[in-house]
Amino acid sequence: MAEETILESTQRTSGREALRKNVQAAIALAGAVRSTLGPKGLDKLLVDDQGRTLVTNDGVTVLETARVEHPVAKMIISASSTQDRVARDGTTTTVVICAEMLRNAWQLVRQGVHPATIARGFAQAEQFSLDALGELVIEANVEQIQAAIETSLAGKLDQAMEKHLAKLSLEAGELILSNGRADPTRVKVIKQSGGSMLDTTLITGLALAKSRIHPEMKERGGPGSILILDGGLERRQPHLDTKLNITSAGMLDAFRKAESKSLLSQVDNLVEIGCNMLVCKEGVDEEARQALANHGILTYRRVEKKDLDLLSRSCGANLVPDAGRATKQDLGAFIKTREELRGGINHWILDAEDSGATLIARGSTDGVIDEVERCFADGLGVACQLLEEPVLLPGAGATQVALGRRLRRHAESVPGREQMAIEAWADALESIPRALATNAGYDGIDSLLKLTAAHSLEGDFIGLDLIDGEPKDTISRGVFEPLKITKQAISGATEAAISILRIDDVLWAQMDAQVPDEAQEMLQGFGAE
Ligand code: ADP
Ligand code: MG
Repeated sequence: MAEETILESTQRTSGREALRKNVQAAIALAGAVRSTLGPKGLDKLLVDDQGRTLVTNDGVTVLETARVEHPVAKMIISASSTQDRVARDGTTTTVVICAEMLRNAWQLVRQGVHPATIARGFAQAEQFSLDALGELVIEANVEQIQAAIETSLAGKLDQAMEKHLAKLSLEAGELILSNGRADPTRVKVIKQSGGSMLDTTLITGLALAKSRIHPEMKERGGPGSILILDGGLERRQPHLDTKLNITSAGMLDAFRKAESKSLLSQVDNLVEIGCNMLVCKEGVDEEARQALANHGILTYRRVEKKDLDLLSRSCGANLVPDAGRATKQDLGAFIKTREELRGGINHWILDAEDSGATLIARGSTDGVIDEVERCFADGLGVACQLLEEPVLLPGAGATQVALGRRLRRHAESVPGREQMAIEAWADALESIPRALATNAGYDGIDSLLKLTAAHSLEGDFIGLDLIDGEPKDTISRGVFEPLKITKQAISGATEAAISILRIDDVLWAQMDAQVPDEAQEMLQGFGAE
């Protein structure tokens, strides 16, 4: 009775019905992205509520853009987003495997296997597979790392561009690798419209689309010290409500003089502390500019806050609010500075201890440039992972089939109904080679059977060649996947599937709060009382 009252305003589905609906949601979700899987996957055209369009092949982008409301679908999308954050790739794979695990689990439930038993079997299969991956790993050399980055970009852009971006990603990764760690945030991206995607270039050091403020200043030099000002060298802007009571003819003049004296004394302070270069967030007034030029202090102004932060990290400088009060300790160090034309636009390029690299992303439209930027971020993420830990697995479905065969052998030794769950989990894993084949226009089941047969004859490294649909050696073809991506996809998908299997009750709160006020009033007008 009490429960009834509490749950008055909720809809409720429970037990098998809840599971059935949740599995349906998962399958529908996977259906939305499965066709993008692999190099032959198709693109999706996404349209937002303002009519803006985006063409993409990236599973997680599709899912994050679609405003999915179903709570279970949201759990799977969140697994896919985690995959993106942690491994930068494998997002579609995660969703497809997870949905397939749930579909197979549902079949077992219908045969009378309890969801908790299935969950236990799935967890065992996951652990077994993570251990078995050790037998499939390849220690990668540089060419193989490059090939793995290309594999991860496959199908996202045209082939020449995939190669080009894979090369730039690896170069960028190598530039920022220090003490065995590579942090992708140390590569800045500048978007420059016009030109072709293939004009995208990488610059060593931190680049900003900026010119120095005074043509007399020397544009290249170094090493030297740099001050980063979170403000400007400007006369104070009188506030709108400031009132100056001018009572004598000389007063305004005196006020101006005092202001320019203050500016010049700030420049004097910079000279005193030994500053060779000044970068400001705001403007620099004419007198200050002249004084800076006279003292040979190279100056850049109106630099965005996020670039100031990058500069500060690159050079080890503090962000100071006031040039007059800056001290020696606030200065950072740079190695070299120069200006160069890139794509017809002047760029200031700074080399410092920690200045990383800058990508200038080019493309004919903003949409193309955004896709270049997204793909580069993915490529760079994979490059960084592989430079830190150069371990690969065979791609093109080889790893999934190799694990599937091991799992089935292992399942035979497991007593009880968990055995069925382990087999169901192995089937789910093999949905990847099936989907790769289907998306390339081949029969999924036939291809999987051929591949499995090839594995028993020729070993673990045989994957599908999607050009002729035949099983081929993946290593000589250079189709690799980083270990981290596959591990994360296996764990992420299994954990999401298990938590969904454990749900046996879904309570839907009635979402009054989301009904707009006017609509609420109209509804009330119909007077339910
Ligand atoms: P995800 O979002 O999961 O990364 P992708 O669309 O990037 O999805 O597809 C990745 C899958 O495509 C992996 O299983 C990978 O092995 C496979 N793949 C990539 N390139 C090739 C290729 N040249 N031949 C066969 N399979 C490939
Ligand atoms: Mg991918």
